[in-house]
Amino acid sequence: PTTWLVYCRPGFESDALAELEHHAEAYGMATVPKRGEGWVSLESQDGEPINGLHRQAAFDRLIFARQSLIALPMLVLEREDRLTPLRGAIQASGWSFEEIVHEVPDTNDGKALAGLTKALAKPMASILKKSGALRRKAGGRRLHLFWSSGECVHVAMSFPGNRSELLNGIRRLKFPSRAPSHSTLKLEEAWHEFVPRDEWEERLGSHMQAADLGAAPGGWTWQLVHRGIYVYAIDNGPMDRQLMDSGQVEHLKEDGFVWEPPQRLDWLVCDIVDKPIRVTAMVERWLERRWCREAIFNLKLPMKRRWEEVNKCLGRLEASLGQAGVRATLRCRHLYHDREEVTVHVRLLD
Ligand code: SAM
Repeated sequence: PTTWLVYCRPGFESDALAELEHHAEAYGMATVPKRGEGWVSLESQDGEPINGLHRQAAFDRLIFARQSLIALPMLVLEREDRLTPLRGAIQASGWSFEEIVHEVPDTNDGKALAGLTKALAKPMASILKKSGALRRKAGGRRLHLFWSSGECVHVAMSFPGNRSELLNGIRRLKFPSRAPSHSTLKLEEAWHEFVPRDEWEERLGSHMQAADLGAAPGGWTWQLVHRGIYVYAIDNGPMDRQLMDSGQVEHLKEDGFVWEPPQRLDWLVCDIVDKPIRVTAMVERWLERRWCREAIFNLKLPMKRRWEEVNKCLGRLEASLGQAGVRATLRCRHLYHDREEVTVHVRLLD
């Protein structure tokens, strides 16, 4: 395969492409960009396999990609018979896999394809089983049939450890009915994304303390309180009454950029709407002084060149932590519940 295919939030194709091109350049590969709504791809210019680049730019390091796949050139099918040419292309590729998923872009047109993909799923699986391509013990590989319309499909492959395990790369979460704001899902999704489930007890435990900067009305604070964590909620605005009644929140009407915690905390979270570089500098100070062990914060991106802005901020954060001798892991993702923003996670290593 010569194509690197990623899914993204519709409207963020330029950012996803800028990111892929940055990795291709670092890898030293000349590529041709393609884009649709909710997806982008890079094709190697001289027919070179894309596998090395796809592996090098691992999914965990990508920001705007919801899914990362290697793919064959897009197939255009006739309505009358989609199965035969699809089987032909898959057989010619020589691929084998343990699972097949049918996926669509995160658009209204994509959603309208649900009936088609449902109707195709069983017959497709059955002919690929017969041909031997779909089988047990195929290294955990998964075939993705990504339908950008009823006639256009990308035949693509993913590998364990270098992909999103979620259908369409989307994490659906149920809105907790008592949470004071919809933002609450951003923090919950961030935890799912950045903290392995079997470490939640240890890293999000009930004896812990956190600061929530820009906390009002309290969607993020609600998540922390729900985990039993004590919260310093910093915001001039009003906090949800019921949440305050939990007795687990101290509301301080102060400036989140200058407030200092009374002692070392476990978590810093921040959802303040301000310049990304200003938020980054503030978090930097927290981490260099070790005021918290882990941080989750959003960088708001109302500008056009979002990827460049994020890259600048993360580059700066990494460099200053390095200079200060602070060892940390750093990750950043454009989450499903993020709109014009990305979510960053930092964890101090010692
Ligand atoms: N995460 C919150 C939730 O889930 O309910 C929503 C936060 S809202 C997007 C941003 C908040 O940041 C606003 O309530 C605003 O008052 C607050 N804010 C803006 N500048 C601030 C500052 N310098 N210090 C503290 N809070 C600030």
